[in-house]
Amino acid sequence: MAASCSKKDTSPNTTATISGLACASGSFSATASAGAIYSATATVPYTGGNGMTYGASTAIASTGVTGLTAILQAGTLTTGTGNLSYTVSGTPASAGTATFSISFGGQNCSISLTVFAAGGGPILPAVYSKIYGATSITFDGTWVTIKCNALPDHKSAYYPVANALHENFSGTTFGGGTFNQNPNTISTQNITLKIPVNPAVAATHAATPMGVIGVALNGVPLFNQYAAGGSPLTGEINSFDQWWGHPQMTGMYHYHVEPLYLTTVKATKSSLMGFLLDGFPVYGPEEAGGTAPTGLDVYHGHTHATADYPLGIYHYHFSSVAPYLNGNGFYGTAGTVTQ
Ligand SMILES: [Zn+2]
Ligand SMILES: [Zn+2]
Repeated sequence: MAASCSKKDTSPNTTATISGLACASGSFSATASAGAIYSATATVPYTGGNGMTYGASTAIASTGVTGLTAILQAGTLTTGTGNLSYTVSGTPASAGTATFSISFGGQNCSISLTVFAAGGGPILPAVYSKIYGATSITFDGTWVTIKCNALPDHKSAYYPVANALHENFSGTTFGGGTFNQNPNTISTQNITLKIPVNPAVAATHAATPMGVIGVALNGVPLFNQYAAGGSPLTGEINSFDQWWGHPQMTGMYHYHVEPLYLTTVKATKSSLMGFLLDGFPVYGPEEAGGTAPTGLDVYHGHTHATADYPLGIYHYHFSSVAPYLNGNGFYGTAGTVTQ
């Protein structure tokens, strides 16, 4: 009996493919109003890119609210995670939701743009303008989309020596130990956080993930109280630089503890420091007047009026001892982050 054989396709793969398209984390660079000429860039994160180049797409017409088109800009996929960029233009015919059905590299999903009534539109609450280090902040009425590059606006031993912001370590480490520089160097990141403008307590409090859990006013990400693998920060604390941050393996600079530059140079120990992904604000290690926060719950927050929220709000506080920022997970329902 003769054995059958099959032929393997050995032709090289020259087609751009991805393994996932995250339309839910997509964002538009501008808000739209009915009847007004619109021009913006839509950014859609992907995973599993195969490094191949791709051309521009044909125009994708909006449905729901008509009158807009999206065109994929030509580019080259990164190997792994990246963003697709679409040029969106036209004049939305009415208020409502304009939806674009996207198909790329074997994946499909839809991105939606809120179109506001003529002359209307959401007004971003002023408190978000305190995030001075963001590369952009946009608002669709529900979600505040904050983009940042994670480059600190202060000196660091972790900037490359050729960078004007490089400065050798001096001063006192966060834990009072001997500074122990890690091998990483600060590099530009592309981080998008979508946080709810109306934060709400979660029925089930999700654990904070490793990586970005929030953003500081200077556009530097906030990380939780764990080192890689969920182990305590103990061994890492001595690698925090003169302003108490450090970069991880991909060069993403971040704070696990009080951002000393914000609490001593740009603001005060009792000022707003940033936001976590659940939309609740983060304050420094002191209350107004210099007292220590009292009655922090297991998530490391509590509720009272602040200068930014005179009607009162739940907020987290930095502290000099663990968990430093956030305790047993998010108090509220977290938004999304791509990093
Ligand atoms: Zn770290
Ligand atoms: Zn407080």
